[in-house]
Amino acid sequence: MKTTWTKTAPRRREFRDAKEPGVRRSFAERCSIGSTTFGLVGGALLFAATAQAKLNVVATTPDLGAIAHEIGGNQIELTTMARPTEDPHFVDARPSFIVKLNRADALIHGGAELEGGWLPKLVEQARNARIISAAQGNVNCCEGVRMLEVPDQLDRSKGDIHATGNPHYLVDPVNAKIVAHHIADAFGQLDAANREFYETNAKKFSATLEAKLAGWQAKLAPFQGQQLVAYHNSWVYFAQRFGLRIDLFLEPKPGIPPSPAHLASVMAKMKETGARVIIVDPYLNRRTAETVARGTGATVVDVAQFPGGVKGTEAGYIPLMDYLVDVLAKALGETK
Ligand SMILES: [Zn+2]
Repeated sequence: MKTTWTKTAPRRREFRDAKEPGVRRSFAERCSIGSTTFGLVGGALLFAATAQAKLNVVATTPDLGAIAHEIGGNQIELTTMARPTEDPHFVDARPSFIVKLNRADALIHGGAELEGGWLPKLVEQARNARIISAAQGNVNCCEGVRMLEVPDQLDRSKGDIHATGNPHYLVDPVNAKIVAHHIADAFGQLDAANREFYETNAKKFSATLEAKLAGWQAKLAPFQGQQLVAYHNSWVYFAQRFGLRIDLFLEPKPGIPPSPAHLASVMAKMKETGARVIIVDPYLNRRTAETVARGTGATVVDVAQFPGGVKGTEAGYIPLMDYLVDVLAKALGETK
């Protein structure tokens, strides 16, 4: 797969796939970061892991890092690349990442092209055979997740960064369980001596999520079917799990900055549907959301996909979910 980048906005870039445009790709292919992107380079096994050492794990985003920590505990040495306040599609690729990736036993990534604009190049530069696509240490977390918004035909012509489906699946706690077990399996294969430890931790995390889920659903139950507005289309899995409608966006397409004409149509739809809450991730333009809120009498609510993206969520995935459910229940309750 040949991947090139073109600039579409000061911060946002799209990546184009030279592979047959319009051809629908298989699930495995869609979730993959491209097996032919990374060539095996001689000497790539130079940094073979020493026996009994902790697993060197690199996670792309803080949500994956938080779940990896739940599973790996003190048996892994964890590096998370994206900051909690950073856009997962456009992470600032620091040179230190290449060193970390070079030494990694496992690379945990979201797949489904979430990191398509920045990760493939780093993996290529890291020259580590243990983490390239199809290697045991390449942990593609979207495997086993039921992807939403997968198009019938692949079309990147409009600069859509969700061209192969919506990659923000981890805001659904049920998907977090799938990912936790996937990570535990991978760790167990890479470090058989601690397999039971990883499996036990995954089961514990899963059970906690299961126990919390009913409470979260109960808190949001009074707001079933209500329309919310999001800046970027990263809440569809959350909306589906909790019975909300989050399908009105300030961006005309994922990754494309809002235009005045588009915002005017969003405001018209908000008045039509009675939407009174606009949710914004920390890396997006809050001022645009505030302008729309002023024009419609809506409230802007700070949300995050990642632990630590908003204050009080630093402790992990479950505190983040607690925050999201509470802040949305409060905002929707006040604007009812
Ligand atoms: Zn996105």
